[in-house]
Amino acid sequence: MKKKISEGTKFLNDVHSAFDKAAKFTSHDDGLLNQLKICNSIYKFYFPVEIEGKVEVVEGIRVQHSQHKSPTKGGIRYSRMVDEEEVKALATLMSFKCAVVDVPFGGAKGGIKISPRLQNDKTLEKVTRRFTTELLKKNLIGPGFDVPAPDYGSGPKEMAWIADTYATFRGDDINALGCVTGKPLGQGGIQGRTEATGLGVYYGVREALEQKDDMKKLKLSTGMNNKKVIVQGLGNVGYHSAKFCQEGGAIIVGIAEWDGGLYNAKGLDIEKLIKFKQETGSIKGFPGGKNIANSMEVLEMDCDVLIPAALENQITEENAPRIKAKLIAEGANGPVTKEAEEILVSKGVLIIPDLFLNAGGVTVSYFEWLKNLSHVRFGRMEKRFQEIQATNYIATIEKNTGKKIDAKARKILVHGADERDLVYSGLEETMIHAYNEIREIMLSTKGITDLRTAAFVSGINKLAASYKTLGVWP
Ligand code: NAD
Repeated sequence: MKKKISEGTKFLNDVHSAFDKAAKFTSHDDGLLNQLKICNSIYKFYFPVEIEGKVEVVEGIRVQHSQHKSPTKGGIRYSRMVDEEEVKALATLMSFKCAVVDVPFGGAKGGIKISPRLQNDKTLEKVTRRFTTELLKKNLIGPGFDVPAPDYGSGPKEMAWIADTYATFRGDDINALGCVTGKPLGQGGIQGRTEATGLGVYYGVREALEQKDDMKKLKLSTGMNNKKVIVQGLGNVGYHSAKFCQEGGAIIVGIAEWDGGLYNAKGLDIEKLIKFKQETGSIKGFPGGKNIANSMEVLEMDCDVLIPAALENQITEENAPRIKAKLIAEGANGPVTKEAEEILVSKGVLIIPDLFLNAGGVTVSYFEWLKNLSHVRFGRMEKRFQEIQATNYIATIEKNTGKKIDAKARKILVHGADERDLVYSGLEETMIHAYNEIREIMLSTKGITDLRTAAFVSGINKLAASYKTLGVWP
């Protein structure tokens, strides 16, 4: 009889088999490959927290997959279900993800075994501050060591508590704000971080849809316009992916949440829906679409693009045969199991892997960290200079041509880049460059037929190069 394994173990096994599959297309020796695969440090700890008059023991986990670059980087997952194997899988993905998008960090991930949905802010603050203190005791947090960020179940609020706790203990660290990213803007954050992962998903999907040859194979027209999209999870990643795709011309036909789903072939209004969710706590009962009790059914409904943006192991060998999407865009980490991928690829579905597609978060986290270390907002030094320069160009053109540039065009031309402009532009460039890099590996390597393997090959080669230049390897 087949032994039942946990969701976390399944996830880690799938990450390892994707690594092994890709490693065969590289020329590194087995010793180095083993080093690149294994998680370097694993720290698991338990601490007491008083919750509603009762002391509860909370489990915390921090895993650093690879310290080939400093700091290591990765979000903290707040979930009742989080376990060590799952965090190991996520930390491993982080190392290769950073490499794929040329972010100079090692990979890490954390977990706190608590359900944020069931706790009030006071408890969450206590838990977060205590978790940070435990990391501090072991030098497992700091702008040069290990820098957490948000993940499933956490956001800017928790990151602000982490930064404040770190600064309380390390007041002499002038770079203290760089100990965590995804902070609120007023507390060392950066414009564009909140939406970064979803915006990166949009840039990545848009780039994939622009490839004429690939779209021909999928029997899809090129471009985002009028593409029917279904999103699973209307949280940070899902909401922003849906919002930017809708703004880019796509029709969001379906949304699946943990407690129900919605479908409307004519399109759901994402802004109205998120407002409804914020007010009622659920998407259930939203009047703009057909309510579907079993949200997993939504994933199987008619669409061109499916964006799973909730959790791992959502598309399995069980539901994969019924998926209608031609393109699956992994907003979440590990949403498609290995077995499901085999079924989908054999049906001709194009999968844009997590390893590349949700790297927008860590890319903008990198920008935030740079901002914290430089102690200056992006655009502060050059915005006005650019505006004066553009005004002078316009004046010269008008003088020499005798023609006036209209007010609307003048406004666009004179606008100097502010922080958000620079972050969006840096992220767009990163996603387009990385997509074409992994696509090129796929097209030019005999035997590679999927983007996940290509992305792992890219990541493995870049990590291997770091180990070699560090002199760690012969
Ligand atoms: P989040 O907590 O903001 O949102 C997750 C959403 O999924 C919530 O709305 C939740 O209710 C919903 N959900 C939970 N179980 C579900 C189910 N069974 N079916 C449908 N919906 C369900 O989390 P997030 O930050 O958006 O993270 C989502 C995924 O994206 C995770 O896999 C995470 O690792 C990955 N990710 C997040 C970031 C980031 O910057 N936040 C970066 C990279 C990857």
